[in-house]
Amino acid sequence: MADFFIRGQKALEMLRKDVQINTVRQGYIFEGSEGIGKKTVAREFAKMIFCEAENKPCGKCHGCMMFSAGTHPDFFVLEESPVKIESVRRLNDELFVKPLIADRKVFVIEHADEMNQESQNAFLKSFEEPPYYAVIILITSSAHKLLPTILSRGTRVLFKPFSQREIENFVSEKYSLTGARSSFVARYSAGVVGRAVEICEDEEILTKRDGIIRAITGLSHEKVSILPVIEAMGATGRNIPSDGDFYFDVFTSFFRDVAALKVGGSIINTDYKDVVESFAKNIKGSSARGIIDVVSKTRADMSANIKAKMKYDLWITNMLIKCWEEIYGTGNRS
Ligand SMILES: [Zn+2]
Repeated sequence: MADFFIRGQKALEMLRKDVQINTVRQGYIFEGSEGIGKKTVAREFAKMIFCEAENKPCGKCHGCMMFSAGTHPDFFVLEESPVKIESVRRLNDELFVKPLIADRKVFVIEHADEMNQESQNAFLKSFEEPPYYAVIILITSSAHKLLPTILSRGTRVLFKPFSQREIENFVSEKYSLTGARSSFVARYSAGVVGRAVEICEDEEILTKRDGIIRAITGLSHEKVSILPVIEAMGATGRNIPSDGDFYFDVFTSFFRDVAALKVGGSIINTDYKDVVESFAKNIKGSSARGIIDVVSKTRADMSANIKAKMKYDLWITNMLIKCWEEIYGTGNRS
């Protein structure tokens, strides 16, 4: 089957056409980064399928109303992560129960790549030969984890990231951000709209970022200067904070910028251009690259070690000591 290399909005237009001219297929695979709009499009698509009016989705008919209220009996979503085998079996059973009020029944598996081999095998037959009324949408950010037999059976819809400029225009219009800020958001979100929206809608996120950058620029030959960084990174307890990834991203992006400046590259934290530039004067490019490695190794070790959840503060402290040593050297104790 053909692959469609399009973005969320275009995907939705294509799917709308499928609904309008009655060419809705039975198996779809939505693939693309987290936060790019796959779930939103899947829901909008289901709503159009259930809509009884001419202009879909009308938002007013029985189908639309039930869908919006979250009570449509023919819509089935598997949200769990990882996906349990019992849930796949339940979905298999549910698949063969005819729709109650609509002509079709829509099934969405939100973390399809988190089905293990056993679950995927249990699901394979359903996906290969679904009953005529079923529409199955698999959502994934890593399609390579799906069995080739599953991949080959679905219509693949690839959600491509937006360009820097598109995101910049979007956030400056929607959130009236100024030049440097909107350019930072665009770069930081790497083309993923959901990520850009998340940053713009959460004031606290930008404040936390300011705090991290301030703490980094306060680093000095005194080893205790890492303490404010530890605090800014939310490492005041044993548990990983819910926005832990964000802390790491901000921290990494700062040193990535420093490394980029050293080789004449462009920076992400454009609204902090002066700060990054003056910090970069005092550290070596190799130190910045070393720090990036330390952070990425820490992240990998943390996610490989489930018990790590229990001691976030120690992970961060150790990481920051290593980062500090990348700048000031191991021989310089204070
Ligand atoms: Zn409707």
